[in-house]
Amino acid sequence: MVLSSFHTHTYFCDGEDSVEFLCEKAVEKGFTALGFSSHAPLPPDCGLVSDWHMKAGSLDQYIDEILGAKKKWAGRLEVFLGLEVDYIKGVMGPADSIYKELGFDYLIGSVHYLIPGRGAPFAVDGPASEFERGIQEGYEGDGAALMEAYWDAVREMCAAGGARIVGHLDLLKKNNQDERWFSLRDARYKKKLGQVLDVIAGSGLIVEVNTGGINRKKIKEVYPAPWILKSTRERGIPVLISSDAHRHIHLDAYYAEAGKILMEAGYTAIKRLSACGGRGPQWIDDPLG
Ligand SMILES: [Zn+2]
Ligand SMILES: [Zn+2]
Repeated sequence: MVLSSFHTHTYFCDGEDSVEFLCEKAVEKGFTALGFSSHAPLPPDCGLVSDWHMKAGSLDQYIDEILGAKKKWAGRLEVFLGLEVDYIKGVMGPADSIYKELGFDYLIGSVHYLIPGRGAPFAVDGPASEFERGIQEGYEGDGAALMEAYWDAVREMCAAGGARIVGHLDLLKKNNQDERWFSLRDARYKKKLGQVLDVIAGSGLIVEVNTGGINRKKIKEVYPAPWILKSTRERGIPVLISSDAHRHIHLDAYYAEAGKILMEAGYTAIKRLSACGGRGPQWIDDPLG
């Protein structure tokens, strides 16, 4: 398998390593391409507080370092400038014009936060206590209502455009171990998921198979679940494998397993951004296996 990852965090956000060190380690592991995707800064005064997003004042340096690495590593590793951008209704999203102006090679669109009609905004992948409070206060204890709100947010994000990769598609399962709050397979779940996949199909969006939840020992399977990858395959939705690494040791973790899952779902290729010999970045296909 040609090794690449387009979902990589650095110490500009909640990652532990520098751009330079991650490039070094990616080359050691035999990577062909490495895309950086620190968490985009939250808009000032949006009312949300986070210790895992990049500070707004660091964005220029983040861009400069990655553009520097692109030049420095040319010929050995293709380096790409990306960003993981939250979709938070009414607050921010990958379709915001600022990202176009800054010249990113690609954006990952991710839903971490939900803003319920009542109660405070909360992250679906935050601590279990925050998730539980979000359901109780925001959805009157109805986990299925939260599930539907999550998929609606992902659908809106995909329809709004701006991103090329859909981040950890079914992140909402992280705090729903043993299906404590809602079913991950019933008709209600499948209906909402199906609405999202209908928007993604034919849009050019790529679904990442994200091994980050396993890497960080938060969950036992990839995002999205293997059965969902059968549905994306049936709809002709392209995929790639990414590690969502926050530490260099995870750059290629569980890649062999992710490749196997994709082949079992019927995929024969994954997407990779390529500099195409200087002709400008383009998404190409790498064979699986
Ligand atoms: Zn994320
Ligand atoms: Zn991430």
